Amino acid sequence: MFPQLEVNLQKIKENAALILQHCRSAGIDPCAVTKVVCGDSAVVNALVEAGFTQLADSRLENISKIRMSLGNSVETLLLRLPALSHAREVVRCCNLSLNSEVSVLAELNARAGELGLTHRVILMVDLGDLREGIWGDELRSVGQRTRKMRHIEVVGLGANLTCYGGVVPTPENLSKLIELKQDWELSGYGQLKLLSGGNSSSLYLVLDGRIPAGINHLRIGEGIFLGRETAYGRPLPGTHDDAFILKAEVIELKEKPSVPVGQVNRDAFGNIPVIEERGIHRRAVLAIGKQDTDFSLRPLNPDLNILGGSSDHLLLDAADAPQLKVGDIVEFIPSYGALLAAMTSPYVQKSYIP
Ligand SMILES: *Cc1c(COP(=O)(O)O)cnc(C)c1O
Repeated sequence: MFPQLEVNLQKIKENAALILQHCRSAGIDPCAVTKVVCGDSAVVNALVEAGFTQLADSRLENISKIRMSLGNSVETLLLRLPALSHAREVVRCCNLSLNSEVSVLAELNARAGELGLTHRVILMVDLGDLREGIWGDELRSVGQRTRKMRHIEVVGLGANLTCYGGVVPTPENLSKLIELKQDWELSGYGQLKLLSGGNSSSLYLVLDGRIPAGINHLRIGEGIFLGRETAYGRPLPGTHDDAFILKAEVIELKEKPSVPVGQVNRDAFGNIPVIEERGIHRRAVLAIGKQDTDFSLRPLNPDLNILGGSSDHLLLDAADAPQLKVGDIVEFIPSYGALLAAMTSPYVQKSYIP
């Protein structure tokens, strides 16, 4: 059935093993981030076979799924700051979570106490990207509060960059984590074992040998799945960029003008289309749309170009692909966003190559 997302488990495993090796030789023990694959069991197994022992996800549903299939053989880390209303579930199924709010930490402490557990946390500090994290001097007051929480163990500090503000990790901004750790320990708030220096955008520092000594944890998703670092979008040498292939079927192929005919107002999503004049050309309509993916896709056939689409249709300029016909399957390499949407969409069939 199409649309279909073909998942090559061997390629994922090879990417994961290579990244693990680079990280470990830089003194980093990273976790694998499974949110883009919705905690998919086959993919999770490939990550474990590659050697990852800690898996991280933003959603409790995915972490529960991982727990169900792997039991206590892996550690689980919740990436998205826990919602107050999820505290009980968080301490029940996650070994660790990333946190920035004292009120939530107090709730996690209470729920962990009820279950007779100690919940481990990494406190997030905002190094300037302006998504999550404790800002400036607030870290000290958090330390004063968490010191008294008997069922919370603060095991480290972490930062997340290149997500909202596009701030790139550098030896300078990551060194701030090391200073904050020293400050925390000198203040008597306890020893910190982990410094979690970001996501796949920090990989370029690992490869260049510039990641500051002391950063000993990273949270890697995209690097493993799409084979690139994300600070500059460069391929990671030796990795596969085609572990996921999205496939869709051609349902119409006709010669038509490239520019709409008639009075133009808004498209299906309320935008006014801006369309380039290419003359009369061959156009393909594919049975895949925004309900399946987003359109940041790269056709494997370089003669095809994406024109746009709507909920259920994707339009291609097929002027340079005269052999393409109705019923053919067109293959694409998805971007991170397109992969996320395709994995999440119930309309996209998933198939696996072992
Ligand atoms: C998604 C996420 C990651 C992983 O990001 P990639 O770019 O896929 O490596 C790491 N940390 C946090 C907090 C995240 O939400």
